Amino acid sequence: MGLMSSAANANSNRVVPAKSCKQQNSKVSENKGNKYLRRGRSGRRTKEMVEIAKDRMRILLAQAENEIIQNRNHIRARRYVILARRLGTRYNVRIKKYYRSKICRSCNSLLITSSVCRIRFQGGKITYYCKTCGNIMRIPLGIRPINP
Ligand SMILES: [Zn+2]
Repeated sequence: MGLMSSAANANSNRVVPAKSCKQQNSKVSENKGNKYLRRGRSGRRTKEMVEIAKDRMRILLAQAENEIIQNRNHIRARRYVILARRLGTRYNVRIKKYYRSKICRSCNSLLITSSVCRIRFQGGKITYYCKTCGNIMRIPLGIRPINP
């Protein structure tokens, strides 16, 4: 193990400095003129950008649903939900009500099948119990019609 790690270190020492210099130079020259590639971009979100964000959020949430139902990959589904929520905060787009009531607010898992959650009706409320983190959400019934 000691030998292996020392060899790896030697390799990394040899390779890294040249690489990092090259990468830094290329990044600076490429990103100078393009404001969309720059990190931490600020300013007004144009209509086109918001439309693209909406589209991406729709795709990500559909993919998350697909992952749970077909592949049963809950970790990947959670990742997609996190990305969709982040897009929503960045471009001021709300998640559709159909999904909003079905996302666990503490662990971001989609509560759509019985493998992920337990749903009960009690006292005029829908109670979602998340099986991954144990969080309970209570959503009142019958105040407003649900718009998909
Ligand atoms: Zn949860």
